[in-house]
Amino acid sequence: MSTAHEIAARIRHVLVRTSHPGNIGSAARAIRTMGFERLELVAPARFPDPQASALAAGADEVLDRAGIHAGLIESLAGSNLVLGLSARRRGVTLAELSPREAAQQALVAAASGQQVALVFGNERSGLENEELARCHAMVRIPSVDDFSSLNLSQAVQVMAYELRMAILGEIPEASLPEHEPPADAVQMERFYEHLAQTLDDIDFHKGRTATTILLRLRKLYQRAQPDERELRVLHGILADTQRMAGLVRDKGK
Ligand code: SAH
Repeated sequence: MSTAHEIAARIRHVLVRTSHPGNIGSAARAIRTMGFERLELVAPARFPDPQASALAAGADEVLDRAGIHAGLIESLAGSNLVLGLSARRRGVTLAELSPREAAQQALVAAASGQQVALVFGNERSGLENEELARCHAMVRIPSVDDFSSLNLSQAVQVMAYELRMAILGEIPEASLPEHEPPADAVQMERFYEHLAQTLDDIDFHKGRTATTILLRLRKLYQRAQPDERELRVLHGILADTQRMAGLVRDKGK
């Protein structure tokens, strides 16, 4: 059985391309008040920064320990469940959860030993399609349609509060995973790269742009949440496909 502290330690908050260092400080304070300590920053515009420290209001350890990453995938290393917060529904639709539903899913995953990431976008542009495609589901705080965007750190606070409420409630009995955990974000990325390369090798796109189909395929595999062993089988199929395509090419020479 995991303790509330162990569960909280398996949940990270990821801020992507944050423009205002003040928001980083406020977010650190927001998660610290709810019992979380792990903040990951992806390409922040300004960090470290006195404004971040001022608004952290004592949550300095969260800031000091914050990971700084060049890209989203690095910040997600090890995470089995990735939830992206977005005020707007984007082109490639993902399953949409309320913060409460998301918190429950995060709790079940973290209680069984999985790592969970909550991903927040840039203040102006939010999360890009490419970034949401790395998530298993989208979380939307049900704000009003004509003024839907919360301040970044306030969105972090709402989500962290729901997570805290979930953790303080029932901790699920099933702390031993029945199934293998889903492969982590880095392993999934490696698979998508292999898939993209294979589609090129078999000339799948035939001059059309690859972006939309690759996003669709990501969505499909993200939904399936394959575990490591299943990914190995998929890699095997791709490798054989590439080998066969190579043979056909060689014959044609
Ligand atoms: N114009 C941007 C708003 C970005 S606000 C957009 O439409 O996406 C900065 C970040 O705060 C968002 O990327 C998201 O992670 C979070 N956020 C703000 N309002 C939200 C809401 N209503 N639901 C979920 N996340 C929200």
